[in-house]
Amino acid sequence: MKYNQVTPAIVSQLSDIVGKKYIITDEEKMSTYSHDETPPQYAHMPEAVVIPRKAEEIAEIVKLANRELIPITPRGGGTGLSGGSIPSFGGIVISFERMNSILEIDYNNMLIVVEPGVITSEINVSLEGSGLFYAGYPMSLLSCFIGGNVAEDAGGGKAIKYGVTSRYVIGLEIVTPTGEIVQLGGKLVKDVTGYNLKQLIVGSEGTLGIVTKIILKLSPMPRYMVDLLVLFKDTRSAIRLVPKIMMECGITPTSIEYMDQLSVKTTCDYLNESLPYHNAGAMLLIEVDGNKEEHVDADADLIGELCFQNEAIEVYVADNNTTRERIWSVRRNIDEALRILSPVQTDEDTVVPIAAITEFVEEIEKIAEKYNILIPSFGHAGDGNLHPTLLKNPDSTMEEWFETEEKALRDIYGLCKKLGGKITGEHGIGCKRKKYLNIVTSEAEVEMMKKIKQALDPNNIMNPGKIFDITCSS
Ligand SMILES: Cc1cc2nc3c(=O)[nH]c(=O)nc-3n(C[C@H](O)[C@H](O)[C@H](O)COP(=O)(O)OP(=O)(O)OC[C@H]3O[C@@H](n4cnc5c(N)ncnc54)[C@H](O)[C@@H]3O)c2cc1C
Repeated sequence: MKYNQVTPAIVSQLSDIVGKKYIITDEEKMSTYSHDETPPQYAHMPEAVVIPRKAEEIAEIVKLANRELIPITPRGGGTGLSGGSIPSFGGIVISFERMNSILEIDYNNMLIVVEPGVITSEINVSLEGSGLFYAGYPMSLLSCFIGGNVAEDAGGGKAIKYGVTSRYVIGLEIVTPTGEIVQLGGKLVKDVTGYNLKQLIVGSEGTLGIVTKIILKLSPMPRYMVDLLVLFKDTRSAIRLVPKIMMECGITPTSIEYMDQLSVKTTCDYLNESLPYHNAGAMLLIEVDGNKEEHVDADADLIGELCFQNEAIEVYVADNNTTRERIWSVRRNIDEALRILSPVQTDEDTVVPIAAITEFVEEIEKIAEKYNILIPSFGHAGDGNLHPTLLKNPDSTMEEWFETEEKALRDIYGLCKKLGGKITGEHGIGCKRKKYLNIVTSEAEVEMMKKIKQALDPNNIMNPGKIFDITCSS
């Protein structure tokens, strides 16, 4: 792939489009835009960072990039775990920091219209007291942008009951890879007018267009919720319970999050939190919600009983905001805490059918033993979406680590395939997992994806080097 460089003449043209103040070319300042939350070996410097304010400016930048054959990388909050916002071929990074307005809250239609640079948590802050909320948010909600969530089709802790980002995106404005501004969908709950291009953009990792406006469906805010923190002596008894909760209780909880002992202990130490993890080999965090307090309590009781019948050591009930926040804060900080335990690691995002997660977790333990590394696991067990995190053994060299990582990842991804799963449930392929895509995806399917990409982005300038490699057709 041969791209042209961003010359001073091109910087000057970019300056005419967005204003000199909103272009960064200084190496030190640009280094922030050279990485996301993936390991440092994936980082790559951009040649220029532009911070536009509106779709029309982005359309001009994209047309310029096509004329000059310069790659563009859209960037949200930079919290990605697959390298999606890394400018792998240099070129121009488009950052949405200034496109951060909530444009409209439409109570009658139960929706909100936002720009892509809105920090995800701010959506629900803006809805406080309205009786409505946005349910599709991920755990990184305090720092990721809603545009990044759309591009990754982010999931999160509430996906079992409320689903992931794509369920809520009913309209999009995008700038296509050739620079047209197009409206997809609208303020509509139903719409089958032609191909569902809106959903093609959701989860396309910034490779098929730039999202400049988003219409999100809102849900009525449940009035009551209860969290159960359930302690088990070992992983097996915790994980085995997950499908039973839904099948035997007939309840769809809001969340069933799994945390193994190492994940919880490390995070409690990191947060100086005293959750009662010491005797537990594994924990489930189960949330139920609803509008009638007695119904929510009855659901929580039923689940609690089932837990005790299935080898739970203890069930703690959190029915007030302070205790709930303490527990959820541990869950949200696991990534961060494990990074401090072992800065060299790889955070995975495997997904298997929920009936297969017991076998999956047991096999992961064997893989950890085989390679003599720690692989703490945690994640959205209710969706079959776990985050086994491979930690470098401190006694090994970096060379040995890369070799071990490669072999262990291939074993894990092979296991996913065997169990009918996929290598990523919510973090995306990006540049980090593209060499493993063919383990779980047929050649014919990848070919379909490539044809779509080539049709929409003939010069291959829109976030190249992500999901798969492609050769330029012009
Ligand atoms: C501690 C932690 C917890 C996390 N928890 C979760 C979780 O629970 N669920 C989950 O799904 N993920 C989670 N993630 C991963 C990450 O937060 C999500 O993938 C998130 O959606 C990325 O959003 P971002 O704004 O940071 O995007 P970035 O990382 O900046 O970019 C992600 C991708 O989106 C593209 N992109 C960004 N904005 C646009 C746009 N406007 N138009 C087109 N493309 C665009 C980029 O090119 C890139 O490919 C977590 C990450 C961390 C560090």
